[in-house]
Amino acid sequence: MSAGRELKGAGHSQILSRWLWTGIDLIFPPSCAGCGKPSIRWCCDCESKIIAINGPTCYICGLPRTKPGFCQRCSANRPAFAKLRSWAVYSDPIRKALLRLKYSNDVGLGEIFASKLLDLFPGLGWNVDLVVPVPLGRFRQRQRGYNQSDLIARIFAASIGILYDPKVLSRNRETRSQVELELDEREVNVKGAFTAMSDRIRDKKILVIDDIATTGATLSACSEALLAAGAAEILAITVARAL
Ligand SMILES: [Zn+2]
Ligand SMILES: [Zn+2]
Repeated sequence: MSAGRELKGAGHSQILSRWLWTGIDLIFPPSCAGCGKPSIRWCCDCESKIIAINGPTCYICGLPRTKPGFCQRCSANRPAFAKLRSWAVYSDPIRKALLRLKYSNDVGLGEIFASKLLDLFPGLGWNVDLVVPVPLGRFRQRQRGYNQSDLIARIFAASIGILYDPKVLSRNRETRSQVELELDEREVNVKGAFTAMSDRIRDKKILVIDDIATTGATLSACSEALLAAGAAEILAITVARAL
């Protein structure tokens, strides 16, 4: 399937899934993913508790700072992506909502997070040719049945009209969850874990989307694979940033 058809497919399936989820919501009313309040998927109270990242950050990895500059980690060891930015700090209620997205295949919630990235993206002034989600390994994908980053990235790309191709990047081995690991173990855990298809990404500026970034090690490993396969530049956005 060509990347263009992949995008069209994303558009149609998005409309279909929205209809489907509207129907499911009528039969099984949703509850707020942050606090459990009934009849709404994401409530105003939870929205008001979000700590948006909109102050000065590291030029590269987007880590909040008191003044713009390079953080210690990026100064010592530049990541493979050109820039990473995130919508909000990873804390409750966003932590609860992302956990729910990860384990409940809630497309409606994917749509809410995609809309946050759609608000963030234009202000960054980035031009990209292709959107790619951080892939799961084959085992985890089969076990869970879907990839939460794909859920967000697919809706994001279809809404903004950028080519979407979830198949150009794959995880060639299962890695341990980054959250369980010490900071210095994370880079080793994901190093060389990704492979990219070169014929579909050559000379393209690629936007990689994930749900959470901590050190940016996973996104950097993805970027390394994409650059090695001929991509021109890698930019990355995530819903949340764990500090
Ligand atoms: Zn709530
Ligand atoms: Zn940095």
